[in-house]
Amino acid sequence: MIIVMKPNASKESIAQVSEVITSAGLSVHLSQGEEVTIIGVVGNKALLDPCAIEVNPAVEKIVPITESYKLANIKFHPTPTSFPVKNTVIGGDTMTVMAGPCAVETEEQLISIAHAVKKSGATFLRGGAFKPRTSPYSFQGLEEEGLRFLKAASQETGLATICEVTSSHAIEAAVSYVDMLQIGARNMQNFELLKEAGKSGLPVLLKRGLAATIDEWLNAAEYIMSEGNERIALCERGIRTFETSTRNTLDLSAVCVLKEKTHLPVIVDPSHATGVRGYVAPLAKAAVACGANGLMIEVHNNPAKALSDGPQSLDFAQFDTLMEELKPYIALSGRTLK
Ligand code: PEP
Ligand code: MN
Repeated sequence: MIIVMKPNASKESIAQVSEVITSAGLSVHLSQGEEVTIIGVVGNKALLDPCAIEVNPAVEKIVPITESYKLANIKFHPTPTSFPVKNTVIGGDTMTVMAGPCAVETEEQLISIAHAVKKSGATFLRGGAFKPRTSPYSFQGLEEEGLRFLKAASQETGLATICEVTSSHAIEAAVSYVDMLQIGARNMQNFELLKEAGKSGLPVLLKRGLAATIDEWLNAAEYIMSEGNERIALCERGIRTFETSTRNTLDLSAVCVLKEKTHLPVIVDPSHATGVRGYVAPLAKAAVACGANGLMIEVHNNPAKALSDGPQSLDFAQFDTLMEELKPYIALSGRTLK
């Protein structure tokens, strides 16, 4: 439930209501707007007697939250979330572009990609060091060595870095090398991993599961948030449908649905959604037009030779053209590339 306080309710009355909640063994999530304060109640609400709250004259109303996710719920937190990562910000009026190879391959390769994507306007370098490949015989990633290359590329260019983590061991290793963790589609409901990511202290990009509903996805975000980590962004990366012309089907309507249900920023990944290089640019533009806070795009110095996901990777010139073509869409969306 949420408790909506009367406009300009005093600090004392907010503290009194919070005290009733915490002394019943539940926790409080405060959302302080310009005039109205909303007190979110997290935990088993059966333990709470609503009358003990209603008696407080500064309480406007008590609204039950029927959704199972609370911290990720827009009702708990009506203003959109934004948070800094290294020299940039995710959410708010920022348009974030995360670009880089599917997998980190060599240090020289990664540094050359980092320079190229930065020059074209990206603020984040992506690169997988732990690759959850469909086949165990495909390239599995450089692991800690790949993380070191990400750090080196970040030190050289100033770009923020993001890397997928597939186990708690990978989280432990990644925290000292990268600025943001990525939980991949295949692990969206790996609840132990989500909790570990929540405890890591790093912001997390949570990709949508291959066949996850939006509510399941938001509950997965709730797992991370319930460990005290509120710096989460969601990433729509296509879902499984009966269609075979593309690797997945990009669910752009999810962006609009999420904007109604959650305050968390939404990033769109047209590369994994389609698996086809030629479809990345039009869908990137469509994603910006429908309200995404950012994009994740695979870029490779030589896509034909990429160790993973070459067919969907853009080369430097294609990425540069896309970034140029995105400018009017970003301007119309009211956001700034930064
Ligand atoms: C990736 O971003 O490298 C990746 C494997 O994506 P997804 O989890 O969306 O398949
Ligand atoms: Mn990939």
